[in-house]
Amino acid sequence: MDNQKTVLIVEDEKNIVDIVKFNLQREGYRTLEAYDGQDGLDKARTENPDLILLDVMLPRMIGFDVCKTLRAEGNNVPVIILTAREEEADKVLGLEIGADDYITKPFSMRELIARVAANIRRSAMVAAAAPAASASAMPVAGDLSINTDSHQVFRGGKPVDLTQREYELLTFLASHPNKVYSRVDLMEQVWNYGYVGDDVRTVDVTVRRLREKIEADPANPAYILTRRGAGYYFSV
Ligand code: CA
Repeated sequence: MDNQKTVLIVEDEKNIVDIVKFNLQREGYRTLEAYDGQDGLDKARTENPDLILLDVMLPRMIGFDVCKTLRAEGNNVPVIILTAREEEADKVLGLEIGADDYITKPFSMRELIARVAANIRRSAMVAAAAPAASASAMPVAGDLSINTDSHQVFRGGKPVDLTQREYELLTFLASHPNKVYSRVDLMEQVWNYGYVGDDVRTVDVTVRRLREKIEADPANPAYILTRRGAGYYFSV
């Protein structure tokens, strides 16, 4: 079929590749496999996959470097990092490696399939919304402004380098000022996950990163505030 999506699996454990491949194919995806980082990078460049599942510890080039290299080349393919431990989550989203998402091993196939679908869908929506021409940025609050055509955020007139997810979280909260959203709400609304497990911590990590980029004092934020025990909201 024409709109069949291709997933590149970069993972050196053959049994994981085999089961992921089997399940993705059953869901109608085309799959490509690479068993080391360098081959993964080469296939990402030449095969133009719709999404990459990327292990961290890989022969020849680690997953983080594969992702960083692709981003440095301007490749915006959605990347889901397969992490061995929950503690790596901060590192995955925190380091400037440009990953879109992560999933902790061992993962359920149901969750993996849901993540793959959500990330491909989100990426398609972003592409559809890509600007024909840039328009001027709209003020949001304080010194923050957002250009929703070019997906750029400005602070004091200077562009802020946000990941796609940080941008989406910010624009979602900012478009519902002063309304408090729980982490589960945000997982559903911003991450598009129908299934929410223990990964609501992703929301906290992303909020923290966003604050570091848009707040004058991230420890005392002025824009994205915490309502203790309830969630997050954009203050105006
Ligand atoms: Ca590995």
